[in-house]
Formats: sequence, C-alpha cells, structure tokens
Amino acid sequence: MQAVKEPRGGFFGPYGGRYVAEVLRWPLDRLEEAFKDIAGCPDFQAEFTRLLTDYVGRPTPLVFAQNATRILDGAQIYIKLEGLANTGAHKINNALGQGLLAKRMGKKRIIAETGAGQHGVAVAAVCAKLGLRCRVYMGEVDMLRQKPNVFWMQQYGAEVVPVLAGAKTLKDAVNEAFRDWATYPEETFYILGSALGPSPYPDMVRQFQSVIGKEVQARLAQQGLSPSVLVACAGGGSNAIGFFSPFIAAALPRLVAVEAGGRGKGRGNNAVRMSGEGLTGVVQGYKSKFLLDEDGQVLPTYSVSAGLDYPGIGPQLAALGESGRIEFTSAMDSEALEALKFFAKNEGILFALESAHAGAAAIRLAPGLPKDAVLVVNMSGRGDKDLFITARELDRENWKSFLKEEIQRI
Ligand SMILES: *Cc1c(COP(=O)(O)O)cnc(C)c1O
Repeated sequence: MQAVKEPRGGFFGPYGGRYVAEVLRWPLDRLEEAFKDIAGCPDFQAEFTRLLTDYVGRPTPLVFAQNATRILDGAQIYIKLEGLANTGAHKINNALGQGLLAKRMGKKRIIAETGAGQHGVAVAAVCAKLGLRCRVYMGEVDMLRQKPNVFWMQQYGAEVVPVLAGAKTLKDAVNEAFRDWATYPEETFYILGSALGPSPYPDMVRQFQSVIGKEVQARLAQQGLSPSVLVACAGGGSNAIGFFSPFIAAALPRLVAVEAGGRGKGRGNNAVRMSGEGLTGVVQGYKSKFLLDEDGQVLPTYSVSAGLDYPGIGPQLAALGESGRIEFTSAMDSEALEALKFFAKNEGILFALESAHAGAAAIRLAPGLPKDAVLVVNMSGRGDKDLFITARELDRENWKSFLKEEIQRI
C-alpha cells in the first residue's frame, strides 16, 4: 500500500493529464499559472477564509452520532455536516475558491456546467456574492428533472442555458462549457464542479475542498481523538478527495469511497467505476476510469442520487484506488434510502441521497470495528434538495395526492 506522490505535470500515477484541443492549451496554462501565483498568496487565503467563515458558514460541525454508535455497537461514529454550508452542500467551497480566483484574474464572465444542479446553484450564489456574470450549461433532460435547482439558479441571477446535444445530461453540459471557453477564452473563467477534468482542475478543486479534511483533523485533535476510518461518497470525487486529503500521505486512517450501486449489477443500472466494470479511457480532457462500451463510448449510468451518476471519476481517486490507499465500495439505492431513514430517525440529521451512500457504508462497517475506533462519515449535503425524489421513493401515494392538490390550488 503506497500513497501516490504529488503529481508531476498534472498526473497522478497513470491518470490525469491534459488531453485537450489546441485552443484550450493556453487558457489552461494561464489558469495553472494564476492558481500557483494567486491561490497560494496570504492575501487570497485571507479573503477565502473570511468568506468561508462569514458567507459559507464554516467551520461546519463535526457531531458525535451517539445513538447510531449505540445501536450499531461498534466504532464511535462522527458525522461531518458539510450539508450545513450555505447552498446545502460542499460544492460551495470549490465554487467560492474558483470564483475568487476568477475575480483576481480580472475575468468578468463565469461559466459552469451542472448535472443535478447543485454545482450550478453554488456557482450562481457565489457569482451573486462576488458580482460576477454567470452562465450555467445544463442538459435539457436535467433541466426538466431538476426544476427547483433551475429556479434557484435563476433567482441568484444566473442564466441557465439548456444543452440539446447528445443525451442532454451532464456529460453534454461539460462539453458545451469547454466549447464556450474555447470560443471566448479571454474574458471567461470556467468553474468546473468536481476534482476531474484536465489539469490543473483536479489539484485546484482538491485544494479548495481540503478545508473539509483539515477541519475534521483539527476538531478531532481538540478532543484528543484520531480517526480510524473516513467514509465519503464518490461521484466525480471532490468531497471525498477534500475530506481525505490531509490524511492521504500517512498509512492510516482507512479511507473508504462509496460509489452508486443503483439498482444493482449490469450495464446502465449503476455508476460503479472503481469497484465494478470501469475501464481506462480519456474523456473530457483527462485519463481515468470510466464506464465505457467496446467502442470506448461513455455508457449511460443510473443512481437514485443525482450527484453520483457521473460515468467517470477524478484521476487522483482512481490512482489512489489502484494503489490501495483508498478502498472503494458501493451502496445500492435501497441501502442509501435505508441509511437516510436511519440517520434521520436516530440522529435528527437528514442526509442528501448522495451522502446517504456514505452513511450506508458506515452502517455496514461500524459493527465490525473495535469500540474505540473513530469512524467519520462525510455528510456532503443535506437532504431537503431531494424532496421530490425521496418523497416519491418513501411515501409515494401521499406525495402524489399532495402534488395533485397543489396543482388545483395553483
Ligand atoms: C455533487 C454532489 C456529490 C458528488 O460530487 P463529488 O464531486 O463526488 O463530491 C456528492 N454529494 C452531494 C451532496 C453533491 O451535491
């Protein structure tokens, strides 16, 4: 078992890199220079930290889950409440970091992609706060499925542009954002939403999200504790890598990343890249593990959680998964829904469906661990955003009649 060394030229072991068309070479070079020159300087750090405190609401709490610990009768369970950050998830840490960088680079125009809309909401909010113009690309299919997030982005003043190409979902929105950036590189900053894409995005996103892990480390140390196991869900991998980052270089704690097991095995039923059928490929500017068909085309995926159904995974997570430093597992829709109910009833904490996958893995792991072991679950987001999905899954008939009555009232 070996930690992957600091990337050389944007690579993490065999993964990562910058596989882009010529037109995007210099914008990415500029971005990398700016990130190195600006993001490290004390002035930038001070402003970032001030806004993380006053605007995002950091540090987010780390709560001891006393009842869950008693019931599962194993490890001491702690929950990091990223869902209490402004806009409801960890996504805002990265959106704010990149937004501040854009501002210092003198960029006036922000673009972003969004799938379920969580990243789009975070970017739209940050742009409103920082006074930046914002355009969010979103697949037309996703816009129909995630109406509430489209509505909130518009309230924050963002322009939400439907993408009509391909399957009209996240992958197509990313392509459209890159196309836009290649067309207007001078004035545009592309705020990418997870720890993936061409270099320097994976490094940059990890660094902005590392506040999660640093806070956990400091809070546990205050209580004289050190963690034995960290558990996070992994879509693209930004909450996981940010949470894990201060702990990667050492041999412990165990780092567990949880993928979307969806309806179970078989093509199109899940989004299991690392602990399933993932293949090495180059997609959207970086090399990593993807769900691909025999021709190397990206396969459709499925999960009850809108944020975990990306067909690829961040290159650093892929490398650390292969080296054995990060263990990958998956949780099915049904397990995630059970975990959501468990933590709601026993801890008064409502997990986002994505985060509930990490919760499900924690429920599986805790009973087999010693009683003095500390297991920390990252609740990457809170569950209110999933009302339309969770209510349909857990209380279908009541929810249906409520919606019918609402329509009559309108
Ligand atoms: C977007 C999202 C995820 C998945 O993204 P990562 O980059 O893998 O963190 C997980 N949880 C929540 C709440 C999200 O909004």
